[in-house]
Amino acid sequence: MLEIKNLVKRYGNGAPVLKDLNLSVQGEQLMSIIGSSGAGKSTLLRCVNRLVEPTSGSITLNGTDFTTLGAKELRKARRRIGMVFQSFNLVDRLSVMENVQSGRLGYISTWAAVTRRYPAEDIERAFALMERVGIAQYADKRADELSGGERQRVGVVRALMQRPEILLADEPTASLDPKTSEQIMSLLRDLARELNLPVIINIHNVTEAKEYSDRIVGMRYGRIIFDDKPAALDAAQ
Ligand code: ADP
Ligand code: ADP
Repeated sequence: MLEIKNLVKRYGNGAPVLKDLNLSVQGEQLMSIIGSSGAGKSTLLRCVNRLVEPTSGSITLNGTDFTTLGAKELRKARRRIGMVFQSFNLVDRLSVMENVQSGRLGYISTWAAVTRRYPAEDIERAFALMERVGIAQYADKRADELSGGERQRVGVVRALMQRPEILLADEPTASLDPKTSEQIMSLLRDLARELNLPVIINIHNVTEAKEYSDRIVGMRYGRIIFDDKPAALDAAQ
């Protein structure tokens, strides 16, 4: 479970962009954070893995308060948080399998890539996940030979390879066409359920968020102004 308490973030001496924010997330759900540009969505996601340093408050993932971890502990603890990116962040010249295995390791091992010596169980796990998301046939292709939707599937498998306790996705569909977007959203929703994995995404497209999310959090000026099932959104608008 992810528990965010009294989270405040200000950049430099500026006004707070997250204002005493509280949020609790459990497994098996896709939660979408919506809200207009500047609301603080991406700051919130980045505070969770401390890509952005929170000003005050606590962020606890299954008992570990991430806000108090030292640099070394943080590096280790970050492996518990899977990340999926808008622009995929793959290494183009490497194969799909090599990209995926970098999730398991936390970095690209040139040695492993050159010798292709990954532990058999990691290869097996990678194939199981790649099969699940429909990219197993591309294992040996270079990442830059794939379509956008396929590349995002690689990004998802890479994140899952580290057996994360939570998956965070910052605008995971923003670079994709509408049809591919929907496929990725439905994949993320299904994986959340299958793996009992909380998935939190930032998303611009409210229609898509409503269609695929189990829960919607609406943000405005650094605060949560809506937190309910998608169906309740119509009544609120
Ligand atoms: P959203 O993701 O909802 O568009 P952001 O979290 O990106 O919102 O931004 C929230 C506010 O924080 C905005 O006013 C933005 O200008 C400001 N902000 C974001 N990143 C930085 C930064 N690195 N330095 C200063 N201000 C920032
Ligand atoms: P085994 O090693 O016996 O196959 P796993 O713990 O790897 O068992 O789980 C089997 C499958 O379930 C994996 O291949 C993977 O697809 C999926 N899975 C289970 N838990 C997770 C998790 N936390 N993150 C990602 N995938 C998982």
